[in-house]
Amino acid sequence: MIAELIAVGTELLLGSIANTDAQMISQRLSAMGITVLHHTVVGDNPQRLAQALETARDRADIIITTGGLGPTYDDLTKQTICQVFGRELELHEDILEEIRAWFQTKMGKTMPENNVQQALLPVNCTVFDNPVGTAPGCAFEENGVHVLMLPGPPFECRYMFENRAARYLEKLTDGVIVSHEIKIFGMGESSVEEALRVPMTTLANPTLAPYAKLNECMVRATAKAETREAAEDMLRPLMAQVLDTLGDVVYGVDVDSLEAVVSGLLLDRGLTLSAAESCTGGLIAKRMTDLPGASKVFRGGVVSYTNGVKAGVLGVDGDLLERYGAVSEETARAMAEGCRRVCGSDLAVSVTGVAGPDADDRGTEVGTVYIALAARERTICKKLACGRGRGRDRVRSAAASNAFDLIRRSLLGLPV
Ligand code: ATP
Repeated sequence: MIAELIAVGTELLLGSIANTDAQMISQRLSAMGITVLHHTVVGDNPQRLAQALETARDRADIIITTGGLGPTYDDLTKQTICQVFGRELELHEDILEEIRAWFQTKMGKTMPENNVQQALLPVNCTVFDNPVGTAPGCAFEENGVHVLMLPGPPFECRYMFENRAARYLEKLTDGVIVSHEIKIFGMGESSVEEALRVPMTTLANPTLAPYAKLNECMVRATAKAETREAAEDMLRPLMAQVLDTLGDVVYGVDVDSLEAVVSGLLLDRGLTLSAAESCTGGLIAKRMTDLPGASKVFRGGVVSYTNGVKAGVLGVDGDLLERYGAVSEETARAMAEGCRRVCGSDLAVSVTGVAGPDADDRGTEVGTVYIALAARERTICKKLACGRGRGRDRVRSAAASNAFDLIRRSLLGLPV
């Protein structure tokens, strides 16, 4: 099955917003084994949308549109699709009642008459009712091409894809597609591809495909079979081979992020963490507190950007700062130990480095970062070089990810 996504919205063309709906849907489709060959973006313009639909109809089995399902004059997705595919729109009284009720209960007001338009849907379509907004989506098939319409707001689009469109699409593909994501930190995409070249290039079902992400990479193993169990049986030996080949750079399978893994490990062991951050400016604390339930394992942190805060709050010795500098192993260790004491946590991680764009006053190169981890019995420290032409953001996010990996390795007794 080949799919094409058409996003409708002038804001997308102007660059006011990014096409995150397409990113989300593409990720989901590829996990379902559906190939996406084109993304198209058109403004709120019926002629250009019609052209895009005609082109897509000739090269895809599935067309998914996002946006343009609203109640205003420029929301023309349904009308244009019906015109191109030769369908009439009909009023769905039940959907209209749902929209009226949504306005009453969620907004506490009477539905504006404009919104009647949203209950107009193509004749003989599958309706995707929308409990998280007003615009329903829908799908129909015409001459072997399936057309699915989803609302634009990202939260609604995600909900409607996962709870409505995904089920419609699963019925189109015979059998079940199961995939597992192997998350990797500390090995570049090209080395991963090199190590797994044979299964990646020779297997047809199951398949193995690499994906690069910021600071890390991922390999997805996918199998298609009649039942979930049969697909899992096909994946088992391949997963074992991948895990065996890559070793401890794999930080998890089907997990969300490094910090989620760290949080899980801390929870299992009944340990708490705190963070003393210089060049990461609170990024570690942010990533930890993005996780629901973070308070069980994360006590807090100190953004000790200046020497004054390193000394005054964390208790780093002024002479030591003077002698070794803010970006040094000695300072990183003292920051972590001070943070552990101040925050009363079992473990404390610290990061001090040069994010750039210029070297520090001692000539320390951009991207030089020291990460320390203090525990009751010992403090460990790691020096990184994560500069080499990277911007400030990349150095900071690489430093934070490395800090999480250092904690993961330390908790699992792996080499650091
Ligand atoms: P509504 O009924 O809420 O207006 P709609 O389906 O008509 O829904 P649009 O009016 O096209 O959707 O878009 C509503 C908002 O959703 C946009 O202002 C934009 O913020 C967001 N949005 C639309 N399309 C996308 C997209 N492809 N990626 C990310 N955000 C989007």
